[in-house]
Amino acid sequence: MCALPSFVEDIMASCLGCRRCEKVCPSFKYGGCSPWLSMLERDNANATMCIGCGKCSEVCKHTDPKLALLYLRAEYLNAQVPESFESTGYSIPPASDEWKEKVPAYTEGNDVYMLPGCIVQGRLPYLKYAAVKAFQALGIGLGELPENTCCMYPVPFRVMEEPERNEYKYKMRAKAHGKDTVTLCAGCTDELGRSGVYAPHICTYLVKYLDRIRKLPGVKLKVAIEPGCSAERYMKDIIAIVEATGAEYVGNAYGCCGKNVKGINDKLMAEREAECAEADVIVMGCPNCQWFYDNYEGGKPVIHLAELLAMAAGDTETLKFHRIPLNL
Ligand code: SF4
Ligand code: SF4
Repeated sequence: MCALPSFVEDIMASCLGCRRCEKVCPSFKYGGCSPWLSMLERDNANATMCIGCGKCSEVCKHTDPKLALLYLRAEYLNAQVPESFESTGYSIPPASDEWKEKVPAYTEGNDVYMLPGCIVQGRLPYLKYAAVKAFQALGIGLGELPENTCCMYPVPFRVMEEPERNEYKYKMRAKAHGKDTVTLCAGCTDELGRSGVYAPHICTYLVKYLDRIRKLPGVKLKVAIEPGCSAERYMKDIIAIVEATGAEYVGNAYGCCGKNVKGINDKLMAEREAECAEADVIVMGCPNCQWFYDNYEGGKPVIHLAELLAMAAGDTETLKFHRIPLNL
């Protein structure tokens, strides 16, 4: 097993046992993990049922259970840095070039950089096209950050020392040469932000351009919004952007998709789909959530916020890559 860093021992030792975290934990609700138990008994197996939503750390007044459980999971799984990271810089292998042949050619701009993140590079590479087209429609040239890599959030990277993880983040910051860099995933924004590297989610960047968004041809859709755990705090911005496209927001509740934690994810996805029942389509703030929703049997169609903006500008090219069709 990889050893727990001493600061994680300190995080666990700071737990006062109030169990406030347990009350808000979506995994605990369905018989999964108890953050309190993991903190109290250093229970690694329990921690493997954590879906990483961060609700526990939002309510804890004394310590950071989510971070501790991240390390406990890495310890339990005897995590190793992924081979694909060593060879490609991403925790999951990037998609083959085949998809490029299917997406029409597009020209990147150079006003702002985009950090795609592992899920986009590996599973939803068409979102890069959507983001470039969305920004172009608003008069902003967007290009991919040169030599970008994983944001270093995934569990296996917990086996690295902090300075080593930070090194990758600082290299990315240097490659931007002072230009703004946006993410398509608020999890990347959070992870980089922990090391002082500022890279806002596209919603916090584009909310400054509502006037330009309102001038696009627009869409006529009833939409639900599932921001993903890390982007929940940006809901106000996401709603403003969605409404500026002409879409009607149905005002749904929202929450965690459960990621790939078996026994928990099916129940949470059923909750998510039920709360979006009134909508034509679900707008996502998170590529990882989008992957899970688009693979959910019988689920609603989903599109990333970048795709909604591209659609509002008249470009629906990326819809053909979705498993669940959005019939316009
Ligand atoms: S982790 Fe925080 S919220 Fe949970 S039991 Fe400990 S002190 Fe309470
Ligand atoms: S991150 Fe979410 S699932 Fe994990 S322990 Fe905290 S509240 Fe529970």
